[in-house]
Amino acid sequence: MDFALNEEQRILRGQILRFAQDKLNKDVRQRDRDQVFQRELWGACAQMGLTGLPVPQAYGGPGLDSLSTAIAIDALGYGCEDSGLVFSICAHLLACVVPIWKFGTEEQKNRYLPGLCDGTLIAANAMSEPESGSDAFAMQTRAEPHGDGFLINGTKTFVSNGPVADVAVVFAITDRTKGYFGGITSFLVDRALPGYRVAQKFEKMGLRTSPIGELVFEDVFVSRHAVLGGVGGGSRLFAHSMDWERACLFASHVGTMERLLEKAVAYARTRRQTGQAISKHQAVAHKIADMKMQVEAARLLVYKAAWGLEHSQSVSLDAAVSKLFVSESLVRTTLDVVQVFGGYGFLSEFDVERAVRDAIGSKLYSGTSEIQRNIIAGWLGL
Ligand SMILES: Cc1cc2nc3c(=O)[nH]c(=O)nc-3n(C[C@H](O)[C@H](O)[C@H](O)COP(=O)(O)OP(=O)(O)OC[C@H]3O[C@@H](n4cnc5c(N)ncnc54)[C@H](O)[C@@H]3O)c2cc1C
Repeated sequence: MDFALNEEQRILRGQILRFAQDKLNKDVRQRDRDQVFQRELWGACAQMGLTGLPVPQAYGGPGLDSLSTAIAIDALGYGCEDSGLVFSICAHLLACVVPIWKFGTEEQKNRYLPGLCDGTLIAANAMSEPESGSDAFAMQTRAEPHGDGFLINGTKTFVSNGPVADVAVVFAITDRTKGYFGGITSFLVDRALPGYRVAQKFEKMGLRTSPIGELVFEDVFVSRHAVLGGVGGGSRLFAHSMDWERACLFASHVGTMERLLEKAVAYARTRRQTGQAISKHQAVAHKIADMKMQVEAARLLVYKAAWGLEHSQSVSLDAAVSKLFVSESLVRTTLDVVQVFGGYGFLSEFDVERAVRDAIGSKLYSGTSEIQRNIIAGWLGL
C-alpha cells in the first residue's frame, strides 16, 4: 500500500492550490455578506478543469481518475476561502456531471458535457422536495407519459445552483407501483423549457455564495431523449451520485480543515497571554493536536473512499463512513478554532466565524449524519 502522492498528483495539487489562493479569495467576506455568486470565478475554475475533473478528454474534461479528483478538490478546499463557490462546483460536478458521464447516452454526453466542463453551462441536482428530505423517495414530483416523452409536474427544494442552473437533473416518479427500485426516473431538464420556473431563492446561514432555491415544474414536456439512466433507473443513478458526492465533495472539507489548523497554529504561537504564547497552555495545544488528528484521519478516509469509486465493487459504506467522520470533524474543528481565537474568533474580520457557518451544512447535505449512521448500521446488519 502506497500512501504517497505520485508526481502528477503533487503537481496537480500545487497548481490548484496556487490558482485558488491567487484568484478566488478576493472580497470573500463581502461576497458572503451579500450572497454573491460570481460567474467569472466559475469561468476561471472551469478553465482550470475543476468543473469537469474526472470527465474524459473526449467530452471536454481533464480525465482524472477518482482519487486524483479527490486530491484536486482537497487542494481547492485548502486554497479557496470561498466555501460556497467550492460547494457549488462540487454539487455541479459530482451530482450532475458525473451521472451524465456515467449514465448518459452518447447523444446526452456530447450535448451537455463540453459546456458543463468549459463553464458555459451550470447544472443542479433536484431531488429534495418540501415534504421529502431524508426520505427522498417519498417524493411527489411525477413524470407521466405524453406523446414521444413525458410531462413533469412538481416542486423541488434546496436545489443548490438552482437559481443559476442551465440544466437540472430532476428525479420524478414514473411508476408508483414499483416504489423505490424501478419507480423513479431521472431526467435532464433544460431551464429554457416552457413550464420550468426558478422560484424562491433562499437566504442561508453559511455557504452564502452558493445560490440555492426552489424549482417548480408545471407541465414541462421533455422528450424521451431527456431520460437519464433509463426509465426506472433513478434510484440507482441517485445512489451512484451520492457515492461520488460523499467521497469527493468532502475532500474539500479536508482541505478546509488543514487551512484552519494552520491558522490556529499561527495564532496560538503569536497571541500572548499571562506572559507567554497561548500555545504553551496545554488546553489550547491539545485542541490543536486534536485538529491535526482529525485532518489526518479524514484525509485517509476520503482518499480510500475516492479510490474505491473506481476499484471497489461497492463504495457506499466507505463513502458513508467518510462523509460522517469528515463533516463532524469539520464542525468540531471550526468551533475549536473560534475557541483558540477567543473573542477575535467571534468577529467577522478574522474569518473563522464564517468557517463555522459554512461547516454546519455538511452534517445535513448529501444525507444527514443520522442517515449516514443508518446506512452504516444497515451494512453491519443492524
Ligand atoms: C446547504 C444544502 C445544500 C443542499 N443541496 C441540495 C441539492 O442540491 N439538491 C437536493 O435535492 N437537496 C439538497 N439539499 C437538501 C438535503 O439533501 C436535505 O436537507 C437532507 O436530505 C435532509 O432533508 P430535510 O432537510 O428535509 O430534513 P428531514 O429529512 O426532515 O430531517 C429532519 C431531522 O430528522 C432526522 N431524520 C429524518 N429521517 C430520519 C431517519 N430515518 N432516521 C434518523 N433520523 C432521521 C434528520 O437526520 C434530521 O436531523 C441541500 C441541503 C443543504 C442544507
